[in-house]
Amino acid sequence: MTVTVSKPLAERIEDLLPQTQCTKCGYPACRPYAQAIAAGEANYNQCPPGGAKGIARLAALLGKPVIPLDVTHGEERPRPVAVIDENVCIGCTLCMQACPVDAIVGAAKQMHTVIPELCTGCDLCVPPCPVDCIAMIPVTGDATGWDAWSQPQADDARTRHDRRIARQAREQALAEARANARQAARDGVAAAQEAPTPKVDETTTEDPEAKKRAIIQAALEHARKKKEEMAKLGAGPKNTEHVSAAVQAQIDAADARRRRLGMNEPDDPNDNDSH
Ligand code: SF4
Ligand code: SF4
Ligand code: SF4
Repeated sequence: MTVTVSKPLAERIEDLLPQTQCTKCGYPACRPYAQAIAAGEANYNQCPPGGAKGIARLAALLGKPVIPLDVTHGEERPRPVAVIDENVCIGCTLCMQACPVDAIVGAAKQMHTVIPELCTGCDLCVPPCPVDCIAMIPVTGDATGWDAWSQPQADDARTRHDRRIARQAREQALAEARANARQAARDGVAAAQEAPTPKVDETTTEDPEAKKRAIIQAALEHARKKKEEMAKLGAGPKNTEHVSAAVQAQIDAADARRRRLGMNEPDDPNDNDSH
């Protein structure tokens, strides 16, 4: 038996949009605009890059009449591509950060350049440029809207935009993991400093190594209690999985140090690992 699962309306609307990710519709990208149309919160005539043909496509899907473009969002026009005057560019990277489809290459303090085949003509790199060295040059003659743009180009732009969003989410998670690891390290130092002087067995007072181990064990015990208290308050460490290689190396070095000292970390109630 074949089960047909029909796509949600927002996805079918998104499939019809040009994917330049230009924000001219009033939404941060094509997908949120599609969602707004599906929710009845936006009209289907707000996309200048799609132009009249784009409106006709949406009207057919929605079973509504073809209406004129709402030009308060911009005019339908021949598609431009961005061109950087490389003699003026100061390599500030602001255009790269603004480009929704990663069509600009360059590095800090080096000349930047646009890969024309990847440029959707969205204009978003122009305003941030502090030296005004980006020009939008029309490249499609009289052809406008969907006559100046193809479905494969739209599909490619959508894929590139999705990849960029995923990369930004990964970078954000990594930055948070690093910040949490730094905070955890600071908390560990503070806990060790706050740790009360341990009661040491009289038989060990003459053994400096045993005394050292007892002090460290007491500090670890204190840190474990603190961790449990924080967890009860919902303030336990976050993003502790998939930490960076550098942070993992620090953790491994600390473990090795503990093993060298003959110390075992107190049992972690959340640790089900049996080794
Ligand atoms: S191409 Fe631009 S105006 Fe059209 S839906 Fe996408 S972001 Fe909005
Ligand atoms: S290079 Fe500029 S105009 Fe082209 S897609 Fe990137 S931000 Fe938009
Ligand atoms: S924003 Fe302008 S100056 Fe800065 S890197 Fe881009 S093109 Fe060069």
